[in-house]
Amino acid sequence: MNFEGFGELLPEIDRTNAPFWHGLASGELRLQKCARCSMHQYPAETFCYACGAQALDWVRVAGEGTIYSFVVVHQQYHKAFKDFLPYTVAIVQMDEGPRMLSAMLGLQRPARIGDRVMPCIRRIDGERAFLTYELAD
Ligand SMILES: [Zn+2]
Repeated sequence: MNFEGFGELLPEIDRTNAPFWHGLASGELRLQKCARCSMHQYPAETFCYACGAQALDWVRVAGEGTIYSFVVVHQQYHKAFKDFLPYTVAIVQMDEGPRMLSAMLGLQRPARIGDRVMPCIRRIDGERAFLTYELAD
């Protein structure tokens, strides 16, 4: 699969979110984890969503989870998705706690709420990658 067109869809990388995107580029899924209350969180922020502490570490996570909700997209909203229609956009309840909004490309069967899913890092080029999810079965 060719993911070249997805590069322009990536957000601006700043000091707060850089470890997430650099992690994906090196093949790792990373989340922030609070040094005070141990909650994982996403998206990245300068403070803990749960307790307000500013002591946040970046940790590698498995990132597996279950589908909390999803939609199937039939309309081409961006040229990068041209070869992937229809595709699923899911809210994944990660085992670590946070919910992740993610595309699911090239599914072998329709997704269902509660399906187990696993992260799949898609490489755009040598420096950039993004996160999708796949059905675990
Ligand atoms: Zn906390």
